[in-house]
Amino acid sequence: MDQTAYAAEALRLAELRSLGVLDTAAEQAYDDVVKLAAFICDTPIALISLIDEDRQWFKARVGLNAMETPRGIAFCAHAITEPDALMEVPNALDDSRFATNPLVTGDLGIRFYAGAPLLTASGAALGTVCVIDQVPRKLTEAQAEALKALSRQVVQLLALRRANAELELLSRAQSLRQRELEDAQKQLQELNDELSEQSLTDALTNLKNRRAFDRLLANEYARALRTRSPLALLMVDVDHFKAYNDQYGHLAGDQALQAVAAAIKSQARAYDHVARYGGEEFAVILPDTQVADTRAVAERIRQAVQALQGLHRPVTVSVGAAMAEAKTDPADLVNRADQALYQAKQAGRNRVHTLL
Ligand code: GH3
Ligand code: MG
Ligand code: MG
Repeated sequence: MDQTAYAAEALRLAELRSLGVLDTAAEQAYDDVVKLAAFICDTPIALISLIDEDRQWFKARVGLNAMETPRGIAFCAHAITEPDALMEVPNALDDSRFATNPLVTGDLGIRFYAGAPLLTASGAALGTVCVIDQVPRKLTEAQAEALKALSRQVVQLLALRRANAELELLSRAQSLRQRELEDAQKQLQELNDELSEQSLTDALTNLKNRRAFDRLLANEYARALRTRSPLALLMVDVDHFKAYNDQYGHLAGDQALQAVAAAIKSQARAYDHVARYGGEEFAVILPDTQVADTRAVAERIRQAVQALQGLHRPVTVSVGAAMAEAKTDPADLVNRADQALYQAKQAGRNRVHTLL
């Protein structure tokens, strides 16, 4: 084989292998082609033969049991040397290329052969659709045309097969990418949730922070107006906390704030919102709560803080309570709770004052 022929054969083999058809199971579409070929050409044997590196392998066959034969004795290997012509051997015994071929001299006793190359768009011949008989004969022109037509059909089937395989690969890759995208989105969402949770939580006390408080109060205020239900707000400020800090240090002050926060939280109900409003000042939103219950919750908080153990000295809080009024807004509610707190401080601290 010269250099060019060698390169062409390499390309032909690459194209054949890329189809992924070698050694696949029988398929109806290909079986039908050989049935039609045998019927039309009136031969006992018909094959779809693919010429691999050292063998011919049959994708479909009638009248023959073998799955493959060595390439060296294959009639079809000769047929593909002229890719666009049908090769016809009327009597193999009269043909120097085949007279001593074991397929001719042996049990199979081939005399007649006609093969139409499977010519692809790139110009490669992958094999043939061929018909074989054990007696010498010739195809009619119509039979020869039909055999060529069947060979073109097989080329189409093979091209479709490749297109399907590529599509399947593509759709698998796409669904993989889709899943990766969904995973990434989920992680991003989780991260977002975590971040927004962090951005609404006070790091020292684990209570809601001022930002969260503002949002919650606006929500609860609107809801209270909508449902015409009462809404109360407590402002809770640690008494003489500057002195506590000065005396025991900032770290001890932080620990005291954590203890106070936990005490307040322990007295709140599930649907109340407890927030750190500022330095040593806390706010408690009490949805759907009347004055009497508001006072009761405030008083429980005051007592719980006073009862705290394990601090450097007892700590107390003053509490201002106010009820929301329909004609004003959240800022007004905060203002009035602050006023009440101021009054509690003025009145001597460690007490609850309610502004009605
Ligand atoms: P009053 O009873 O009038 O509220 O007296 P006070 O000393 O508590 O009031 P003031 O507002 O003068 O002091 C508040 C102090 O709270 C000042 C500051 O040192 C302390 N403080 C505020 N935030 C923190 C904090 O995060 N950690 C600590 N350790 N101290 C804080
Ligand atoms: Mg204070
Ligand atoms: Mg204060």
